[in-house]
Parts: sequence; C-alpha cells; structure tokens
Amino acid sequence: MTSAAPHPVQTGYFDPSDAPSYDQLVHCMRCGLCLPTCPTYSLYHLEKASPRGRLALMRAVSEGRLGVTPGFGEAMTLCLGCLACQTACPAGVPFGELLEMARHQAEARQKRKRFICAERLRNWLLSRVVYGPRGLERLMPLLRFYQNAGLQRRHLGTDGTPATAQVSPSGARGCRARGATLPGSRGTAHRLS
Ligand code: SF4
Ligand code: SF4
Repeated sequence: MTSAAPHPVQTGYFDPSDAPSYDQLVHCMRCGLCLPTCPTYSLYHLEKASPRGRLALMRAVSEGRLGVTPGFGEAMTLCLGCLACQTACPAGVPFGELLEMARHQAEARQKRKRFICAERLRNWLLSRVVYGPRGLERLMPLLRFYQNAGLQRRHLGTDGTPATAQVSPSGARGCRARGATLPGSRGTAHRLS
C-alpha cells in the first residue's frame, strides 16, 4: 500500500508568501467534534463562527472559490483564539497556526485597500481640483475663508510681524502675469514681511 501523495500547493486568493497551508487545511474531516468546544459557535450557532466553518472558509480562499473579503476577515477576527477546538480535533489540524496566517492575510489586504483608496483620492484631488481646469479658482472660496478668518496671519507671522497674503478671487493665474488687479479683487498672491 502506498502513502497518500501530498496535495499540490494551492494558495488561491491568498498571498502565496505566507498563505495558510493547504496541506493542513485538507486534514479537516468536517466531523464537527470541535463544535461543542467553541465559544463563538455556542454563542452564534453559525457555521462561519465555528472552527470547521473557519477552516472551510480558508480552504475556499485557497481553492480560489472565495476572495479575501471583509466577511472572511470578520470570521477570522471573531475567533477568540482559545484553541479549544485544536485540542478536541482528532485529525490534529493546527488551527492556531492556520488562523494566525489567515488573519495576517486579511489584515494585509485591508491595509492595502486603504492605501489604494488614499492614493486614488490624492490623485483625484491633484488632477481634478488642484491642477485641473479652473483648479485654483475652485479653491478660491477656501483661500478667501483662510484670509478672512485671520488664519493666514496666525500661520504666516512667524517673525513677529504679521504677514499678509492676498489672493485674487478670480484666480492668481493671468492677473499676476499682467500685473493687473480685477475690480473687486484684493490683489495678486504675495507675502509681505
Ligand atoms: S474536529 Fe478537526 S477534523 Fe473535525 S471538524 Fe473540527 S477541525 Fe475538522
Ligand atoms: S480558537 Fe476558540 S473561538 Fe476560535 S474557533 Fe477554535 S474554539 Fe472557536
């Protein structure tokens, strides 16, 4: 009789660098002997809140049937990490080790998502608001508020002499180049010291 061949490495939607071991995941026989030991399963009576369910979710991600979604992260986070299930498991599934890796993957994915969102917002602000057509004009109300509220004096008067900056409400571009001031404007952008 020949021994069973190891399962081919499968990482699915996990980052392959530190994915939970697929070889260990498939050891779960889904017998359910761990269920009575699990406090979160006792509380919620939901498969996804049980050790067996969490292992099934990890396996689904490894097999590419499920992404590392916020729901996946939540199921992993909800686990108390008490490892009562690991002690009860007749198949010796190393739940603690698998859980740690799955949690790490979920956290890394969330961080990456937040970083991408912040980058997109920054790029959008730069391209559409600051450097876009009429970008500076759009910022004029904010700059005017900055001047009128006295914030400008507070921020620029570092040498004891209040520094004043005045900005044309219709945009500094063009006006400054011509050295002209539009009617009703307060002048071109400059700082006095
Ligand atoms: S006791 Fe072990 S093999 Fe059985 S369902 Fe739980 S984790 Fe899987
Ligand atoms: S570590 Fe504790 S809370 Fe988490 S699945 Fe196992 S028994 Fe349940």
